[in-house]
Amino acid sequence: MKEIIFLTYSEIKKKLNDGSLTSQELVSAYLERIKSSDSKVKAFLNLNADKILTQAKESDERRKTGKPFSEFDGIPIGIKDNICIRGEITSCSSKILENFESPYDATVITKLKEKGFVFFPRLNMDEFAMGSSTENSAFQTSKNPFDTDRIPGGSSGGSAAAVAASMLPISLGSDTGGSIRQPASLCGIWGLKPTYGRVSRYGLVAYASSLDQIGPFSNDMEGISDLLEILSGLDTKDQTTAKVDHFDSKSVSTIDWKGKKIGIMKTEDFNFSPDVNARYLEILKSLEEKGAELVALDFSLLKYAIPVYYLIATAECSSNLSRFDGIRYGLRKETSGKLDDLYSESRSAGFGKEVKRRILLGTFSLSSGYYDAYYGKAQKARVLIRKQYADFFKSVDVILQPTSPTTAFKVGEKTKDPIQMYQADILTTSVNLAGVPAISCPAGVDQNGLPIGIQLTTSHFDEVKLLSYAYSLSKLDLCKITLPKEIK
Ligand code: GLN
Repeated sequence: MKEIIFLTYSEIKKKLNDGSLTSQELVSAYLERIKSSDSKVKAFLNLNADKILTQAKESDERRKTGKPFSEFDGIPIGIKDNICIRGEITSCSSKILENFESPYDATVITKLKEKGFVFFPRLNMDEFAMGSSTENSAFQTSKNPFDTDRIPGGSSGGSAAAVAASMLPISLGSDTGGSIRQPASLCGIWGLKPTYGRVSRYGLVAYASSLDQIGPFSNDMEGISDLLEILSGLDTKDQTTAKVDHFDSKSVSTIDWKGKKIGIMKTEDFNFSPDVNARYLEILKSLEEKGAELVALDFSLLKYAIPVYYLIATAECSSNLSRFDGIRYGLRKETSGKLDDLYSESRSAGFGKEVKRRILLGTFSLSSGYYDAYYGKAQKARVLIRKQYADFFKSVDVILQPTSPTTAFKVGEKTKDPIQMYQADILTTSVNLAGVPAISCPAGVDQNGLPIGIQLTTSHFDEVKLLSYAYSLSKLDLCKITLPKEIK
């Protein structure tokens, strides 16, 4: 039999339901794996093994008495450190919230609790989800399980690395400009950003509220569709959730590529690494052979995605993070001086360099005299990007692109140059600006054995179509990937 930790999400679900595996066996195997591997991967900020085992024991008892909460009862799930779980620290990998214990559950956590999932909280991330590598965490840099000299991507790097290192089958992350898709791509797993408004943001610590979405990571496609069904839905606690038909995972099916219109990009206009480029073209060729029609789309507006995203995201974060003032939450520096000194000293000590940079950028672009030139213009360009996606979907069924221009880079390689780091988000940020759903799917490895990811995008609330395409893509030989057995 396959070792427990190397089972896929769907194998685990099946075994828990046919009684051939207990949640305690499963959770103990993961805890062992974490013990032996997380000193190298550094995905978890801390772990309370007793608390986790107690949840597994309760789940097994429910199953024994024939009263499981659901077919998911006892499945372990990792949680990014910016999603509130009552009674747990939620630090956003920031010193300012290092000791902040959440007094309530995020809506997504309430939904998962009702189904009986076992929580492994506190996966490492870039501070307040700002970054593409987890190097902005105030506590530790997570490492890529395929090569621990390299980053796992970010900001949800801990959530992706934990799944890729077989320390968990599924996890939750948040995606503002690519933070689920980019780490999924660099770690060889699946990661979904749902349509804006599909999943409640109540209890997600806000970075940029008009862009943020919670979404799942998984070591197979079934994990993604099951979690999307569980997490989504209208929530009175989040007025931006939409009243739409509920996503039904049973509607996801394989598609026949014949006659399907696939939107593609001309790779010459972008600086992709040769291996990423080659794999993208190979996949397109294979889909064409299966009868798909490739439609080259005009992505010229994509060159504005990075500036527009970084203006809007920093403007929103400067406003959202003003609540961390040393009075209401988290770290407080005692000063003998005035109230203003308390604010500035607490914030100076509590926030890291990148967060400060972004608060400054956002405050600048929102300030009177500059608003029209920067923030106002960015909002207008955002409308154009959104319109461009609407136009794309008049002529294609799905858009297929690489998720990231390169595979995982070395720790420290881009930290000196923030602009170069921001460029890593070129293919993901426009999706958040438009609000459409997108998924990153594994697409084999490059010459160094590092995972390549392909991003699929459909129109708003068309996740059934999106996941059907992703599921079909996962069946191609070119997209096969094996997660590392041994972490070196
Ligand atoms: N890398 C992007 C940023 O730093 C995206 C982060 C995210 O999606 N949370 O803003």
